[in-house]
Amino acid sequence: MGYNVAIDGPAGAGKSTIAKLVAKEKGFIYVDTGAMYRGLAIHFLNQGIQADETEKVIKACQDAEVTIRYENGIQQVYLNGANITSRLRDEEVGNMASMTSAIPEVRAKLLELQQNLARTQNVIMDGRDIGTCVLPNADVKIFLTASVETRAKRRYEELMAKGVPCNLDEIESDIRERDYRDMTREIAPLKQAEDAVKVDSSYMTIPEVVDKIVELCR
Ligand code: C5P
Repeated sequence: MGYNVAIDGPAGAGKSTIAKLVAKEKGFIYVDTGAMYRGLAIHFLNQGIQADETEKVIKACQDAEVTIRYENGIQQVYLNGANITSRLRDEEVGNMASMTSAIPEVRAKLLELQQNLARTQNVIMDGRDIGTCVLPNADVKIFLTASVETRAKRRYEELMAKGVPCNLDEIESDIRERDYRDMTREIAPLKQAEDAVKVDSSYMTIPEVVDKIVELCR
């Protein structure tokens, strides 16, 4: 069994930024489970399936193979052999992933892949249900959160820096919608595990959050 660190929290709390830095400092492998849901979402989009066509989504799961490889220490996501990493962060992919991740068959498909990665290696894994469902026996569990306003502002600045035109109010309402969907779905809803340490990053710098988590990993 590897040393397992679980980081859960809402969209835009900074999980992936923090997890990557902690992984580097501790020599762990960073596993981004959101990227796996996004990988399946690309498969559904490629097939022209709408997010509310549940039966078609379930059927399409059968011929989707999402694999994770690490190339120069960076996670690459493959869908049926094709590297789809560059499409993962597209807005339509995020929306499709958010909606289809509530379907039990979609979650079941990815659960085993996630647990297998953690079984033999030291990992820091981020998502929504890692501490509660995927790795209930993780050595360290973090619930990383920040206010909706802070998360929306961070996302806005990130998109602006990339030159992507966007609107702060729209980003904020999108984040509220995703939070609601993640927290109220029947299967594996986003919630803090009882034994998780809550870290609110609203008024913390990135190095402060990283230090706090690295300290918990001792
Ligand atoms: O974290 P990220 O935004 O990349 O995740 C994409 C979507 O996948 C989220 O909106 C969430 O609904 C879903 N997800 C999930 N469980 C996870 C990771 C992500 O339901 N462990």
